[in-house]
Amino acid sequence: MSTINSVLGPLDTKDLGFTLMHEHVMCQAFVADNYPELFGDGYMNHIINGVTAAKKGGVDTIIDATTFDLGRDVTRLAEIARRTKVNIIACTGWWMNAPEHIAGNSPDLYADLFVREIQQGIAGTGIKAGILKSAADFGGVTATGEIMLRAVARAHRRTLVPIMLHSYAPEQVARRQLAILKEEGVELKRVAVDHVNDTTDFEYLNWLLEQGCYLGMDRYPGLNLSSYARTKTLKQLIDDGWIDRLLPSHDLCLVTPLTFYPPEVKASIDKENPYGYLYIKEVVFRQLEDMGVSQAVLKTLCINGPRKFFEGL
Ligand SMILES: [Zn+2]
Repeated sequence: MSTINSVLGPLDTKDLGFTLMHEHVMCQAFVADNYPELFGDGYMNHIINGVTAAKKGGVDTIIDATTFDLGRDVTRLAEIARRTKVNIIACTGWWMNAPEHIAGNSPDLYADLFVREIQQGIAGTGIKAGILKSAADFGGVTATGEIMLRAVARAHRRTLVPIMLHSYAPEQVARRQLAILKEEGVELKRVAVDHVNDTTDFEYLNWLLEQGCYLGMDRYPGLNLSSYARTKTLKQLIDDGWIDRLLPSHDLCLVTPLTFYPPEVKASIDKENPYGYLYIKEVVFRQLEDMGVSQAVLKTLCINGPRKFFEGL
């Protein structure tokens, strides 16, 4: 048992319950601040309705993976948490939008900022971050990405708040991300490598698990691979005994500002997933059941793994 920061204050890990480890309750809040019409009418109500539906369907906690450069707004997250009774954990760290001219800067400069957001609060609100995030995508860890990853590692060493990594599985980018974290003295059981079900390369997935880290089995319904293919990977890893290291989630933003996708793309995303934050429970759990996963196992998926991750087990 330990205590973590939720957007409404301290949360005991025993109260995490059914937890979605990588979602975006709201992205690009700066667009809503400046051009609310690009979000469409009543976007907050749409979010509240989606998160309320999740709560009714048994989701207790959502980790919001939206860094400030993806448009995080913890004041809105707190309002959503208050109105829906879903625990929301905000993140600190940096996604991939760091300007190249910072490449000579010390990671400590940014580590100080991330520590402040964990210990004192974000943007003067007093709302504290409960998880650290760093990102690398195709092409691997960039020069600025490495600075931010080292900064995240150092903020972790100072606060013991765990780390989530946006990674690019088809190029096995986490091999480099984990090597950097190791150099910085991070215990890899405090790290979740997300988006790993973009690959079906079990040699890579098992290697990651053997390093001690958790795997974010997110991006449901999916981009490059089908939902079913992702669930087959999940099933195989459950059968191999890794259940408490697997973190299924959607990587879903309920409200998509019009700057994100053309309307026809958004419509097809909505059609593919009419369940929102309940897709895992409504679709993936049924797929797992059909593949022979027992009710006993399904009862602990999305509960034990997230709790152990935050407790550092
Ligand atoms: Zn994400």
